[in-house]
Amino acid sequence: MSEFLPYPSLHDDFYKNILESLEDYGVFTTDREGIVTSWNKGAEHVLGYTEEEICGNSAEIIFTEEDCRNGIPQHEFTEAMEKGRGVDERYHRRKDGSLFWASGLIFPLNDSEGKHIGFTKILRNLSNRKEAEAELLEARRYAQSIVETSKEPILILNIDLSINSASKAFYKLFSLNKKEVENKNLFEALGQQWDHHPLQEQMQKYDSFENFELVYSSQSKTDEHILLVSSRKVFRTFKSIGQILLTFEDVTFERKMEQAKEDFIGVASHELKTPISVIKAYAQILDMELKDTASEKVNKTLERILIQSDRLGKLTSLLLDASALKTGTIQLRKEPFVLLELLLEIVNETRQSSHQHELILEEVADARVLADRFRIGQVLTNLLTNAVKYSPDAESVLINIRVNEEKRMVRTSVQDHGIGISPESQTDLFKRFSRTENITTAGIEGFGMGLYISSEIIKAHGGQMGVISTGNDGSTFYFDLPLVS
Ligand code: ADP
Repeated sequence: MSEFLPYPSLHDDFYKNILESLEDYGVFTTDREGIVTSWNKGAEHVLGYTEEEICGNSAEIIFTEEDCRNGIPQHEFTEAMEKGRGVDERYHRRKDGSLFWASGLIFPLNDSEGKHIGFTKILRNLSNRKEAEAELLEARRYAQSIVETSKEPILILNIDLSINSASKAFYKLFSLNKKEVENKNLFEALGQQWDHHPLQEQMQKYDSFENFELVYSSQSKTDEHILLVSSRKVFRTFKSIGQILLTFEDVTFERKMEQAKEDFIGVASHELKTPISVIKAYAQILDMELKDTASEKVNKTLERILIQSDRLGKLTSLLLDASALKTGTIQLRKEPFVLLELLLEIVNETRQSSHQHELILEEVADARVLADRFRIGQVLTNLLTNAVKYSPDAESVLINIRVNEEKRMVRTSVQDHGIGISPESQTDLFKRFSRTENITTAGIEGFGMGLYISSEIIKAHGGQMGVISTGNDGSTFYFDLPLVS
């Protein structure tokens, strides 16, 4: 160690102790020619040389060969002399030849009389930071390559809704190319029609949402797509949003197929209706003609034809209704009427076919609704016949009509003490062809269409339908309709 180090020198205990304790900081001094004159423990730790080994060598030893060739060490000394300090960040070389990233601060060293005697360099090992940065960059590239190569249309937006990157599938779906899109505002890139678009509102309102449906027609308006859009805001740190991920699913084809299926069901059930009625009518004629003269076998056969044609007739009517409801072609003939009066009619009809059950009107309000009387009658029939059908061992069905003045709604409920519906089965209950497992095993006949049609009818009236059942002691089905003043 050289003898002429100025105050504060690396030999000063206080400073020395501090410097020695900083493992990632290497501190060393050189003379004016760049020959190392002192070397702290941190420098030993970071660069691998001991003080004895390195003192007397040129500081160039810790620079990469390329930096040496380019005169970087000399440049640092010159900069320190000219500006009072030099700062840099670059690779340095350890004793074992390995490279590491470090930031360096170099400044001139003067003796107590102010005479320039060399330089001090403080070197900070930044390899961890550099590695983390490299990993982050790698992760970003990786994420970006996933996005770009994804078969799904994906878009990454910056928080100001400018487009950061997009997948190939996205460009294909929107018939756009990278140039037309990158760094542009989403709505600008996709055309003016998106201005004040509900999607914009949706994105402002929610941090994430799924399957938001919208119709997109290209700028040339040649084709129209039905898209399901999902979005997620990616938060970098608490509350500061980083980016928005948007995914698009083109369901145009599926929707067309669905429509085609509906059309087919509609047409097929319509076409079936007449031949079924004709079969039924001829069977009735035969039945009347042969009832007293034909053999038991013939009569039984005729009875079966009548039962089955009746079933088929019901099914085709249900399918026709379902398809009309689905395509929105059902016409509601709304009129104001007293719900209780209609209920009494349906209760009487149901009593004709069910003698075992007592249909009890519990609390029945005298409310008026503005609705399609025929369709609401259909709903009531469905609920009452189900209540009877699915409670074969019970004796009563309870009916209520209650008014909720605050919500301006009237609720009609039908409660049975039958086989009930487990909570798991309740999720799909109002979908088409939904039948619960306990029904299938109990062998009770049905099509699984009635509740779907009923709930669609109620929805079309601005109301809703639901069920309450624990799965043990029967079920309570209800529907709400808006009240008429
Ligand atoms: P269907 O009775 O012709 O099968 P619905 O659409 O009216 O058709 O009913 C759908 C299914 O819901 C039934 O098959 C049955 O599994 C269940 N369900 C309906 N009403 C009741 C009820 N009151 N109790 C128990 N299960 C019921």
